[in-house]
Amino acid sequence: MRIIRSVSEMQSYALQQRMDGLVIGFVPTMGFLHEGHLSLMRIAREKADVLVVSIFVNPTQFGPNEDFDRYPRDIERDRGLCESAGVDALFYPEVAGMYPPDASVFVDEDMVSQGLCGAGRPAHFRGVLTVVAKLFNMVTPDIAVFGQKDAQQLAVIRRMVRDLNFQVEIISGPIVREADGLAMSSRNTFLSSDEREQALWLHRSLENAQSLFAAGEDDSRKIEDAMRRLLAQNAPGVDLEYIAVVDAATMQPVGRVVCGSLIALAARVGSTRLIDNIILG
Ligand code: AMP
Repeated sequence: MRIIRSVSEMQSYALQQRMDGLVIGFVPTMGFLHEGHLSLMRIAREKADVLVVSIFVNPTQFGPNEDFDRYPRDIERDRGLCESAGVDALFYPEVAGMYPPDASVFVDEDMVSQGLCGAGRPAHFRGVLTVVAKLFNMVTPDIAVFGQKDAQQLAVIRRMVRDLNFQVEIISGPIVREADGLAMSSRNTFLSSDEREQALWLHRSLENAQSLFAAGEDDSRKIEDAMRRLLAQNAPGVDLEYIAVVDAATMQPVGRVVCGSLIALAARVGSTRLIDNIILG
């Protein structure tokens, strides 16, 4: 596995692969890898000749009071996991190499990114889109795989690719969960055992919504209320930021729930911010 630390080396590596006629698959991550990340690598591995994974904790997608500094990092462990996953090139750039100190061009999205996580994290999706656009220019992937776990991020990236004509196919991978249902996340490492117990109710509330929908309930307000009640009764340590029933492509609220509608939520458990979602039907 090749380790690439500079942008220019990444670009010449990618150019060489393209000149050799190889299909480049790409999985961007912030590292501290878990089975969720590895599942995306397997999807990319199947569809591409060359698998590139990036590990970059992107400062521009964190707000001033967020957890950029304490975000978990373990490059040695990640490196081993990438090696076993059959990664061809691990792109692990430094912040200084990624952003000129006077960078002044950013990618903004005006609709899909505005609600949900975008409401509570105002510059987050600008940071995400800008870094993903930059990574796409460096890696020039034919396909890129993103997790359904970050459903709004996925929708925003699909928009950028469509509206700015990036020549890359975006593929999504399903949410990988722990045996008890908790969505895998690098941030789960911050949870105490009590907090982890409380956090399980996030997934349970989504499953409860799925059951209500299966039983015929299609009023999004009633489904949201039932989820809130379940959480309030069972998980007082869960501080909900939002629950939203939305269209999975536009992230706009829906009144009547249909098959394919998305229920997304974000919550703080202790000092850890968690997100989860489910696609109904
Ligand atoms: P991150 O390292 O958290 O920025 O995530 C990198 C990629 O992995 C993103 O496309 C995420 O949506 C995806 N991802 C994170 N957690 C999971 C999970 N539990 N299941 C599937 N994909 C995930």
